[in-house]
Amino acid sequence: MAKMSFAERLKNFFSFNKNRDDSFFEDLSDILIEGDLGAKNVFDIVEELEKNCKKQKLIEPDDILSELKTMLLPFVSSIDLTPQAGKVNVYMLLGVNGVGKTTSVAKLANYYKDQTNVIMAAADTFRAAAIEQLQLHGQRLNVRVVAHQHGADPSAVVFDAAEAVRSKGEGLVLADTAGRLHNKENLVRELQKIDRIAASKADEGCYKKLLIIDSTTGQNGLRQAEVFHQAVGLDAVILTKYDSTAKGGVAAAIGKDFGIPVAFVCFGEGYKDIRPFDPETYLDEFLGIK
Ligand code: GDP
Repeated sequence: MAKMSFAERLKNFFSFNKNRDDSFFEDLSDILIEGDLGAKNVFDIVEELEKNCKKQKLIEPDDILSELKTMLLPFVSSIDLTPQAGKVNVYMLLGVNGVGKTTSVAKLANYYKDQTNVIMAAADTFRAAAIEQLQLHGQRLNVRVVAHQHGADPSAVVFDAAEAVRSKGEGLVLADTAGRLHNKENLVRELQKIDRIAASKADEGCYKKLLIIDSTTGQNGLRQAEVFHQAVGLDAVILTKYDSTAKGGVAAAIGKDFGIPVAFVCFGEGYKDIRPFDPETYLDEFLGIK
């Protein structure tokens, strides 16, 4: 049986619970926690929601969900990532192993390649397969890949990729990076070094740090955001694996706790399975609002 999406579970909950008493709101909290909004956030939000519903006499599921959406909207924001013309732009993709960094680099390369000179930088030199994977994407997409040997200094890869873009007059470096969080100190040191190089090579305002979050990993995403945000300071999140069963509430939790906007949503393994993030659409899908 296909797994029920979060929105479907929410819908079922409303159809089986007709009362709007305290226990309704308690149970609603449990469901929202399963949606990865974070327990503390949920308790704060539902307390307020209960007050608002009582004050405004909201009883119908649609009205309650719409009130919930209004309350969540301030936490969820988007950001337009358009490479600046005539400049050297560098987007560094960060995240733990397996979240979809390399795939997202390729999707973004495909997304931007008709707008500007795109170069993919294989700055995850720790995993040999990551370099090969990126080179394969480069061949398929006809996009240049700058790669050094396995084990080479990742910041040197970003340096060379940025030089290559500068020699063309303008463009965008999309840098893949390593994500072995179990070796946190080394990882953070390595990322901070790449960060310094990228910041010095990109033109002003053209360097963006993007955290890739797997929308199926739940609350771990919040911890990942904290680690990477502390290490280098994040500009935006890219939400991957956002298929029909994904809960994705973690994006709202990251927005609430760290104020980081979401740039893109990825919903499959194909190059075109990426779209700019829209808060209204996201919340409608999350809450199952038509
Ligand atoms: P990395 O270790 O962070 O570089 O992760 P990869 O890019 O290698 O992706 C890990 C796995 O997730 C691969 O099997 C990808 O095909 C898959 N993947 C990446 N993004 C998505 C997505 O948006 N949706 C789905 N369904 N799978 C994805």
